[in-house]
Amino acid sequence: MQRSRAEPQVTDLPGERGREVVEYHHESAAPSTYVYEFVWDHTAPAVGPFCTDIDGNVLMDFTAHVGSMPLGYNSPKILEPLSEFDLVDPSKIAGQDFYLPAASVLEDVGVPGPADLMDRLTDISSQYGMDTVFLSNTGAEAVENALKICFDYTRGKYTITCEGAFHGRTLGTLSLNRSKEIYRRAFPEIASVQDIPFCTDRSCTAETCDCGFFFDDTSSLRQMLAEKSGYVNSDEVAALVIEPIQGEGGYRFPSDPFMQEIADVCDRQEIPLVVDEVQSGMGRTGEWWAADQYAIEPDVIASAKSARVGATISREELFPEEESRLSSTWGAGDILAAAQGVVTIDAIEDHDLLDNATRRGRGMREELTDRELAGVTDVRGKGLMLAVEFETETRRDAVQREAFSRGLLVMGCGNRTIRLLPPLDVTEREIRLGAQLLEKSTAAA
Ligand code: PLP
Repeated sequence: MQRSRAEPQVTDLPGERGREVVEYHHESAAPSTYVYEFVWDHTAPAVGPFCTDIDGNVLMDFTAHVGSMPLGYNSPKILEPLSEFDLVDPSKIAGQDFYLPAASVLEDVGVPGPADLMDRLTDISSQYGMDTVFLSNTGAEAVENALKICFDYTRGKYTITCEGAFHGRTLGTLSLNRSKEIYRRAFPEIASVQDIPFCTDRSCTAETCDCGFFFDDTSSLRQMLAEKSGYVNSDEVAALVIEPIQGEGGYRFPSDPFMQEIADVCDRQEIPLVVDEVQSGMGRTGEWWAADQYAIEPDVIASAKSARVGATISREELFPEEESRLSSTWGAGDILAAAQGVVTIDAIEDHDLLDNATRRGRGMREELTDRELAGVTDVRGKGLMLAVEFETETRRDAVQREAFSRGLLVMGCGNRTIRLLPPLDVTEREIRLGAQLLEKSTAAA
């Protein structure tokens, strides 16, 4: 398959073999785990956003596996450096106490391990003075451990979360979820979680805000924590947790004044600011972290997906010193996961992919806005974290189905939004192709 010429080609989707695999999967899988209707054939041609499914359909994937495959399929930028290592035995790393080779120290061994990944992660977070990492496996674990270190550091009992938030599915992280009730129904939650509105208008100011955050010369956060008239003692707050750009909640991009107010209050009240960058981080928005897009100074970053493992990143002083207070048998994934995390960061740097994400993202927004798609109420994005919002949920779902039938994979989020996550090295041609397919899909829907 030649990336410069590939196009989606659909004959039967999902086809007979795909349906067979899905049926087999459902025989033993928990019923709520299968989401996609296509089955990728990893032995068939695939490159960049293009992949072939088990029935021979060629698809254009603008989901990047919800951001966890940042450079698309079979990226030579990832595979070539990995192929230099002898990874016949992709050993699982039991805990982080069993040290594996670190390429930075053992140049003759060469395989980058968890220590190299932590080194890279602190490098790209050094603008916040962060020098320490705890590696786990998933996004939920990254956020869960962010909560744990903040509880331990502050000894506070409150956590502050945002309306529309999604932070994972463990009991701790689901307690902060405010996007859909299904994530919390009947599950016990951690106590003392306080809610604040999340900015719904990226151009809003304190004067024009109508999401309920700013009012009467103050904000709901400031009022909540006010010394006499507030209802939460700021000394008892362990953390404010926020997705700098909301993912599952609808790809919502907050305004600068909103983020500045959050940062200012946290700073004054000495409340650790935790940014959940599981979806928005690792270059997706054209900066290493979505937090870099705003005038804020996070204290903790939770990363996963594109990093290939879960990572809780902060300053050393925030982490407990006591041995075994944090640990994870399979923390840091396997040797392949850690090495992949390292080469992903290197590839983003070496190929100027932050810049590519910024430019191509702008191109996609222009393409989609210029086409004046029917029933679309908003096109927005930063870098390659892009969203198209529709008048209704029904219309959004219909467009998504039409796109699928044309071989364009996209995902929903919020109530009536489609999210687009092209690979970070997406080309101008692929952006145009994606926009054309979305135009045809909206017209057909
Ligand atoms: N936080 C955010 C912002 C996410 O988007 C997700 C997953 O989509 C998570 C946390 C949870 O990550 P995981 O599914 O790896 O546990």
